Amino acid sequence: MKKVVKFGGSSLANAEQFKKAGDIIRSDASRRYVVPSAPGKRYGSDEKITDMLYACYAEAENGRDYSEILNRIRKRYEEIIDGLGLSLNLDGEFLTISEKFGCKAGRDYAASRGEYLNGIVMAAYLGFDFIDAAEVIFFDSSGNLESEQTNEALAARLSGTEHAVIPGFYGSMQDGRIKTFSRGGSDITGSLVARAIQADMYENWTDVSGFLVADPRIIDNPEVIETITYRELRELSYMGASVLHEDAIFPVRKEGIPINIRNTNHPEDKGTLIVESTCRRPKYTITGIAGKKGFCSINIEKAMMNAEVGFGRKVLGVFEKYGISFEHMPSGIDTMTIFVHQSEFEEYEQSVIAGIHRAVQPDTVELESDLALIAVVGRGMRATRGTAGRIFSALAHAHINVKMIDQGSSELNIIIGVANDDFEPAIQAIYDIFITAQL
Ligand code: ASP
Repeated sequence: MKKVVKFGGSSLANAEQFKKAGDIIRSDASRRYVVPSAPGKRYGSDEKITDMLYACYAEAENGRDYSEILNRIRKRYEEIIDGLGLSLNLDGEFLTISEKFGCKAGRDYAASRGEYLNGIVMAAYLGFDFIDAAEVIFFDSSGNLESEQTNEALAARLSGTEHAVIPGFYGSMQDGRIKTFSRGGSDITGSLVARAIQADMYENWTDVSGFLVADPRIIDNPEVIETITYRELRELSYMGASVLHEDAIFPVRKEGIPINIRNTNHPEDKGTLIVESTCRRPKYTITGIAGKKGFCSINIEKAMMNAEVGFGRKVLGVFEKYGISFEHMPSGIDTMTIFVHQSEFEEYEQSVIAGIHRAVQPDTVELESDLALIAVVGRGMRATRGTAGRIFSALAHAHINVKMIDQGSSELNIIIGVANDDFEPAIQAIYDIFITAQL
């Protein structure tokens, strides 16, 4: 068995957290490849090392004195090193970093040092080899990941080592300059490493015990999702909060490697298992509920619309012209409704309406604003009769007016449109009927 374990910033914020991570790694011999983030916040108002590095580099770039912030960063690492009782000395590393900041080595270089240094500390603490991600993760000159080159380099390099630490978040471009992924990108590094070594499992250790069925700001103490498929996760993540960087899914999904989201502070919790496919019966009919407020709908009516070839394309062409992406597009025989993000749409509202009139000569165009979309997602829905019925009777009992319904033909999700003000009560009603009622 081979496992890749990635630890997020809060799991490595100080020596105490480092020790928890170390105990987790040592408790399972198959946890052989470790991907650390940079130290995160130790308490609510604390600063993340990555943010401090960005701030420090901004000072350097503007020709101001950056030594004070750099010293604070250095103190954070020294605190960890001392707390772990290591004899590691980072003087040389900080000298290089300071010099490179002085000659403006780049914002990405600056940010990447958080993971780089944490990787060195982690490798010393565990007694594992340290592999600089710049030597095994590659980007092209426009900053896109070179996935095949990376996979080959990682596989070749890791085949020569039994235990290694590979810092997350960055790699290098063809000219040798450092390039980072977008924020939270250590998740991607972990996924790339898991793919390269054909891991049995990619464990992603963070500060929550997995994905929750619904947003805890709306539902009090929601249940944890035990198993979720990659497709279900996509349906939920495009609307909701993210525990995992979206791009982390693709490398492992390609290889059918499961991801396990785990909690460093509660290693006894099983967390959420993300899989390609499963025949395990889900505990509840629905896997999760996610949603977002702030949509608006454009309802277009025209007699005989269904017979007019190219109608939809012409309408969507107007949105495309103004760079507005649409979220959903339910239609009737003579109507077509387009849901867009209100914030993206407002500026172009009148131009879009005029454009639709010119393009398709509709009978009417009506707008409705302040709408919310809710996605109810679950692979279990396909096999269960009456799911939609239960959702809508629950909403009716809660006196919620449903403005739109859209069921994907995969039967994996049902999208419901309600007024912004009904958003929270609607999620509560759906949660109660499927989860609370079955507890
Ligand atoms: N340290 C980086 C960030 O704060 C990357 C990561 O943690 O995944 O975004």
